[in-house]
Amino acid sequence: MIKINDNFTRIPISYLFSEVAQRINRFKASNPTADIIKLGIGDVTLPICRAAVDAMHKAVDDQASADTFHGYGPEQGYEFLREKISEYDYKKYGIDISIDEIFISDGAKSDTGNIGDILSRDSKIAVTDPVYPVYVDTNVIAGRAGGLIDGHWQRIEYLECTSENGFIPSLPSAEPDIIYLCYPNNPTGTALTRGQLSLWVEYAKANNALILFDSAYEAYIRQPEVPHSIYEIPGAKDVAIEFRSFSKTAGFTGLRCGYTVVPENIEGVSTDGRRMKLNSLWRRRQCTKFNGASYVIQRGAEALYSAEGRRQVKDMIDYYMRNATLMRDGLMQAGLETFGGVNAPYIWIKTPGGMSSWAFFDKLLAECHIAGTPGSGFGPAGEGYMRLTAFGHFDDTKEAVERIKHLKLN
Ligand code: PLP
Repeated sequence: MIKINDNFTRIPISYLFSEVAQRINRFKASNPTADIIKLGIGDVTLPICRAAVDAMHKAVDDQASADTFHGYGPEQGYEFLREKISEYDYKKYGIDISIDEIFISDGAKSDTGNIGDILSRDSKIAVTDPVYPVYVDTNVIAGRAGGLIDGHWQRIEYLECTSENGFIPSLPSAEPDIIYLCYPNNPTGTALTRGQLSLWVEYAKANNALILFDSAYEAYIRQPEVPHSIYEIPGAKDVAIEFRSFSKTAGFTGLRCGYTVVPENIEGVSTDGRRMKLNSLWRRRQCTKFNGASYVIQRGAEALYSAEGRRQVKDMIDYYMRNATLMRDGLMQAGLETFGGVNAPYIWIKTPGGMSSWAFFDKLLAECHIAGTPGSGFGPAGEGYMRLTAFGHFDDTKEAVERIKHLKLN
């Protein structure tokens, strides 16, 4: 028989979105006329902006002519895109990131999942809880997680983020080698200020830890005290890898493009004592397993940085953030304890009266015909919460808020 990676037998199947879909279908079957508003799955709804669409049309035409045709591209991504990223995402904020430190990819899910390839199997992990599940599951697959007891993997340190600590995780106590941070945060929709993030950079420096900083929602930052990049924090280039994505910034969820910054400064050590740059290891990893993001898509991403593209992206983000503000204000008026939605497109609701996440999911569906995502699906500390997204259409969002205002809380 073919022998498989045993770690796959240890990951519980994620029932979250299939269970959500099943409950919606069951409800629809017995309430066929119900107009259900889905504010659960974190996909965008607005189309790709004109600047990117036009650039991609042109790039398709490039492929039709021998003198402009592009075959395999550089594994690290085209310079035309890396230069724009370096200038607009970093230099603009006074951060010096060279194009050699930027790696274009097909999205942040792949990169946050694959980065473990260059790190020791023995590394100890810390994650915030609740968490984007990819960080945990990919470490289970790699054999770093230990056994699963009561929903907790034994070799992963869970840093709880709840309303009690204002969703600000405490520094780790189990001396992790790798710390995953995601800010602005999915699922809680909360953010860290410069001061709060500085503590993590200082911790990582003092304890030889590596921070994997997922910044997929950077474009949603509104408040000036929230940093746009971890590299705004002095010393972060020695300890942090940053992941970005065009998915939520510009609706590229179906086109697939993101990037990862691996600073030249960061070094690791092999078991036999050899020091190596993580930048070189990641380049080697990508050259071995990845053949680059598509030329057409990278041209589309490049166009997001043109004057027109930046304006159009801003309009899209403003649209979603108008939803977020509407939801946040409306749900608070309805008497629900509500978090997030200020620097992120997610609203995190504390379930009323100590209900479980799933019980509240059923109540929202039955009484308001609204589908959210139960917080318990994002980790043990997500129990007792519900995530709603601001990625819906404005009219649906407005209608959803009106319905929730009539929800019976007792
Ligand atoms: N990181 C976080 C925190 C996310 O929420 C998501 C998508 O929902 C991703 C990464 C995935 O991004 P991409 O579409 O670039 O793979």
